[in-house]
Amino acid sequence: MTQEAIERVRSSLGRSRLRWSPQREQIVLAFLKQDHITIRSLYGFLNRNGRRTPLNTIYRTMRVLCENGFAQARRFGEETQYDNISTKGDHDHLICTGCGHIVEFEDPAIEELRQQVALANGFHLTGRNLELYGLCAGCRSYPVPPAMA
Ligand SMILES: [Zn+2]
Ligand SMILES: [Zn+2]
Repeated sequence: MTQEAIERVRSSLGRSRLRWSPQREQIVLAFLKQDHITIRSLYGFLNRNGRRTPLNTIYRTMRVLCENGFAQARRFGEETQYDNISTKGDHDHLICTGCGHIVEFEDPAIEELRQQVALANGFHLTGRNLELYGLCAGCRSYPVPPAMA
């Protein structure tokens, strides 16, 4: 993760009239290091070791990151994940319902199929959000307790 990414965020937050502060920089840095992160884990990370980053500051910063095309709020299962799209293009997701693990993927065959389905139904696609749910290899290797089998 580069200083350049931080600078891009910083200047666009300036355009949204959001005051830049060391606290905001910490939020942005923590976010840019992840592919996806929830507000809850950001809050936990930023408030370890007795530091104080209020929840509303995190919410507000993430909202502005979304408005400026650095983040995309996606609802996977229970919680909203903020997808770090600062350095990647459109992509799809595999989501583990056991542990929440997320795998990003791009597949040209799926992309083509998507276009065909849209065309056949008279749609012009403007967004992309294919989510496949299942259990990851790690979760499948746990034996199922007899009561739940
Ligand atoms: Zn993603
Ligand atoms: Zn899993």
